[in-house]
Amino acid sequence: MSNGPEAPVPSEELAERKMRFLFTLRSRGVTDARVLTAMERVDRGLFVRGIFADRAYEDMPLPIACGQTISQPSVVGLMTQALQVNPRDTVLEVGTGSGYQAAILAHLCRRVYTVDRYRRLVREAADLFRQMDIANITTITADGSFGLPDQAPFDRIIVTAAAEDPPGPLLEQLKPGGIMVVPVGQSDTLQSLIKVTRTEKGFDYEELRPVRFVPLVEGLGSE
Ligand code: SAH
Repeated sequence: MSNGPEAPVPSEELAERKMRFLFTLRSRGVTDARVLTAMERVDRGLFVRGIFADRAYEDMPLPIACGQTISQPSVVGLMTQALQVNPRDTVLEVGTGSGYQAAILAHLCRRVYTVDRYRRLVREAADLFRQMDIANITTITADGSFGLPDQAPFDRIIVTAAAEDPPGPLLEQLKPGGIMVVPVGQSDTLQSLIKVTRTEKGFDYEELRPVRFVPLVEGLGSE
């Protein structure tokens, strides 16, 4: 896709935008040093194409292919922070979208499995990971509401599409002590970001903040 007729952004202007990007993340509550470093290393500009490329360093969700969205950077930061990822963790992401969230997680843990219901999004994200020399992400086209039984259990699970309830198979695929972050609620209303911790006895639920995500949809997409 072309970036349109606009003149390329000069490099000082780009550096300035990236600085402001990190400043905004901090001011919106992303304070974990490891998360900030990972977000500094992953250039969001690579994940946004076409007419919106120019807005990649603004703190807003933007349209991507297949009618989906790349999440707002501060929400990506807050979700990553809530996930409390350790360097040896295996993480499942449901909702690859652009691949931005997965690329950030890849800097923080041992392996990321990322699943999307659109073949096209999975292919384009995989191409980007290769270009960026990120080798610890496994991309899979599937309905992620069922998780990945063959790769389970996971230390951490992040769902980046809204479910009416945390999907049962995902809860089952969480290790004891594991954490899942998932937006919950109807797709056309405000949803709540929920942090689920698996304990010895069951699950603890904590409501973090209101969010707005595209819905978790059954089955595979058409593209
Ligand atoms: N994490 C992404 C943003 C995801 S947008 C990023 O960093 O860019 C939500 C994504 O969830 C969409 O790409 C959508 O196709 C996907 N999705 C929705 N329902 C799904 C399901 N049941 N299984 C897998 N992916 C799903």
